[in-house]
Amino acid sequence: MASGGANYRNGTQRNSLKGTTTATDRQLSMNLNPSKAALKNKSLSSVGASSGLRKSSPGSLGGGTAKDDAGVPGRVRVAVRLRPRNAEESVADADFADCVELQPEFKRLKLRKNNWDTDTYEFDEVLTEFASQKRVYEVVAKPVVESVLDGYNGTVMAYGQTGTGKTYTLGRLGEEDTADRGIIVRAMEDILADVSLESDSVSVSYLQLYMESLQDLLDPTNDNISIVEDPKSGDVSLPGATLVEIRDQQSFLELLQLGEAHRYAANTRLNTESSRSHALLMVHVKRSVKGRELAHSSQNGNSTNMAKSLRPTLVRKGKLVVVDLAGSERIDKSGSEGHTLEEAKSINLSLSALGKCINALAENSAHVPVRDSKLTRLLRDSFGGTARTSLVITIGPSPRHRGETTSTIMFGQRAMKVENMLKLKEEFDYKSLARKLDIQLDKLIMEHERKQKAFEEEIERITTDTQNQISEAERNYADAMEKERLKYQKDYMESIKKLEEKWMMNQHKLGERKDQMASTAEEVAELQKLLSKETSLRKAAEEEVNNLKSQLAQLKMSEASANSEILKLQKMLEDEAYRKEKLEGEISMLQTQLLQLSFEADETRRRLDRGGPGKVLGGLDSLISQVRPQVNDSVNEEKASIANLFEQVGLQKILSLLEAEDADVRIHAVKVVANLAAEESNQQKIVEAGGLTSLLLLLGSSEDEMIHRVAAGAIANLAMNETNQELILSEGGIRLLSITAANAEDPQTLRMVAGAIANLCGNDKLQNKLRDEGGIKALLGMVKCGHPDVLAQVARGIANFAKCESRASAQGSKTGRSLLIEDGALPWIVQNANNDASPIRRHIELAVCHLAQHEVNARDMITGGALWELVRISQDCSREDIRTLAHRTLTSSPTFLAELRRLRIDY
Ligand code: ADP
Ligand code: MG
Repeated sequence: MASGGANYRNGTQRNSLKGTTTATDRQLSMNLNPSKAALKNKSLSSVGASSGLRKSSPGSLGGGTAKDDAGVPGRVRVAVRLRPRNAEESVADADFADCVELQPEFKRLKLRKNNWDTDTYEFDEVLTEFASQKRVYEVVAKPVVESVLDGYNGTVMAYGQTGTGKTYTLGRLGEEDTADRGIIVRAMEDILADVSLESDSVSVSYLQLYMESLQDLLDPTNDNISIVEDPKSGDVSLPGATLVEIRDQQSFLELLQLGEAHRYAANTRLNTESSRSHALLMVHVKRSVKGRELAHSSQNGNSTNMAKSLRPTLVRKGKLVVVDLAGSERIDKSGSEGHTLEEAKSINLSLSALGKCINALAENSAHVPVRDSKLTRLLRDSFGGTARTSLVITIGPSPRHRGETTSTIMFGQRAMKVENMLKLKEEFDYKSLARKLDIQLDKLIMEHERKQKAFEEEIERITTDTQNQISEAERNYADAMEKERLKYQKDYMESIKKLEEKWMMNQHKLGERKDQMASTAEEVAELQKLLSKETSLRKAAEEEVNNLKSQLAQLKMSEASANSEILKLQKMLEDEAYRKEKLEGEISMLQTQLLQLSFEADETRRRLDRGGPGKVLGGLDSLISQVRPQVNDSVNEEKASIANLFEQVGLQKILSLLEAEDADVRIHAVKVVANLAAEESNQQKIVEAGGLTSLLLLLGSSEDEMIHRVAAGAIANLAMNETNQELILSEGGIRLLSITAANAEDPQTLRMVAGAIANLCGNDKLQNKLRDEGGIKALLGMVKCGHPDVLAQVARGIANFAKCESRASAQGSKTGRSLLIEDGALPWIVQNANNDASPIRRHIELAVCHLAQHEVNARDMITGGALWELVRISQDCSREDIRTLAHRTLTSSPTFLAELRRLRIDY
């Protein structure tokens, strides 16, 4: 006994009847013919090959018409399902065993005929009371659903006595317990999961067949739907039925509930029970075959994409019909429940017609009474034949319904013999291709339109741009033109203007000439008058303007001019001051010159006075004496004026000039000072004012001999005063005078120096200091010049010195021999004691006398020859006082007397 898998898709089949020994087997085996058996065997070896399986199925509800379409042979699959005992049965049948016994592992059902006899039936699937709804779906319906999805028609039917679970098996929604979901719900779930909602479509019709009238459960008003059969293809359609497209499971469930509600309402209205009507759910699945599948199905594997896209889509149409049949109770039984026979017949007409057809098909009868009922007509393309068909027969366990159960089992057994030849419902969808092409065309048209529009816009844009550029260029051109035009116009105007001016000038000249010729004298006069009037007016205006301008300028410059005036005055003042200073300088210079002149004049006068008239004078003195008569009076006047000037200028000013830069000024100044110093009354003032010091400094600092001479003269004059003598000595006067004498060339200078020292020699207190400072030697140094004036002064100095010594000796303050003798003056004294020049001789005579008065000097005087001079003086001197003195001195000296005696001179 062969036992194949539950999956009998794609032509897989198993000959369940082979080798069976059951009654059913025997009953059904007579329906089989050898040729068909051979075909079956053949088909087994070529599973999945569509070619070579073309064979009309005489068992099809289609009526045995030979088909050209490819088909897959198969058989109506039949499963039996046993309902568990219900509550009523549990009680009523408590004492009875079930009338059936299931052997699912052998797919067998044992029907108990009586206590000792059972019949065994084999089914494609045996589902016990414990079978789950899921398992029932998978073994009964799933292969059919998959077949429908592949493009075949398929039918799932439930057949059985009322109350055995047909509706439970097919129509449970499983809203309370999801495990309860029946075949319909699960089938739609699988379909929706497998299709693509974009390219495929799932639509549903829900119908009820009662008393041979077909009612639309989705539109209750539509209760007489006609069945249309395509004579060519044999396809059955219900154009009047509502077809609802299903997009999701929930909407499908709602649709089912709606249909159920309508069914209930209709049955109430018709006073029927649902068990007496057939419910049909028709699910149309349309699938597009694309991509790999299409390429695979294509004969030409090299077809281009274009060709592919232009090829009509291959559409596979599958139709699943789920039929919840009316209760299979026997008609007589039904009738016994109060229905008329006619009614009962009518109610079950379709069911019995189905039975008859199945029988005919099972028996491979030439005539299948498909047209006898609407149900059989409706299932023409879905039951057997070209469809995959699955039948579930439901039975109850109760032995009380054994007859019904047996009848049901027999129905199933017969159905198992029905062959079917699957036909792939595949066609080219030219309509959709046309639609697609239309869409493509529309797209292309739209695209073209868009491109056209874009192109036009681009053209327009370019045109606008170009126009803008052109107008811009035109504008620029116009602007440039306008500029050029204006420039030329301007140039033109200017040249015209110049020409006009020239012309005017020419005209004017011409006119003038003409006027000159044409105008009369009066006109000229008139014009001249007018011109002069205009000129005067203009002049007046100009004057006015100038006045105003000058006023303004004056106002503006008043302060400035005042300032400049002040500055000018200040400058003038400064100039004046400078000039005054200069003049003062000049004045003082003139004054000194004047003083000098007056001094010299005075000196001259004094000499003249000293010399007396008629005395022979030499050099300067004589010169002065010659002019004396003329200058005598004027000198006196000058003296007075010098005194005045001295008062006016001031001693300080004169002394300051001693240090003047200008050598002439210094010379004049020293002369003035010398002149002043000659006056005894001025001497103290000069010394107090520092004049003596200045004169001494001048001796040291100046190189000019004249200055030396005049300064020395002045010092000599000042040296007559005892106080001044001390001052001269303390300020180094002897040394300065000695240097001056050593450098002097002019005898007059020597005379002044000698005069000054001679005066100093007359001071008793300064004897030693004078001698220590070199005064005696300085005097003696000057004798070598030989000038009588110098010698006279030297002689005077020696005389002065000797007189002071003799005084000191007489007073006892001096004891040693004379410093004159010490410094070697004695020879020169002896030598000049009898000098021709009387001033010299007289001073020397006095000096000899003074020396001789001191006994310590006697020996030296004797040795030096002075004794003889003393003798001579005492005898020959012209002055009596000196002769007397000499004599007395000689006679009072023991040494001299002794010497005279020794020499045997009788004195
Ligand atoms: P039918 O449609 O054949 O008249 P139903 O499907 O209405 O029968 O079932 C009748 C009763 O039996 C219901 O109450 C149902 O729930 C119950 N029934 C049917 N089949 C089964 C089952 N396999 N398991 C449990 N209860 C079932
Ligand atoms: Mg029911």
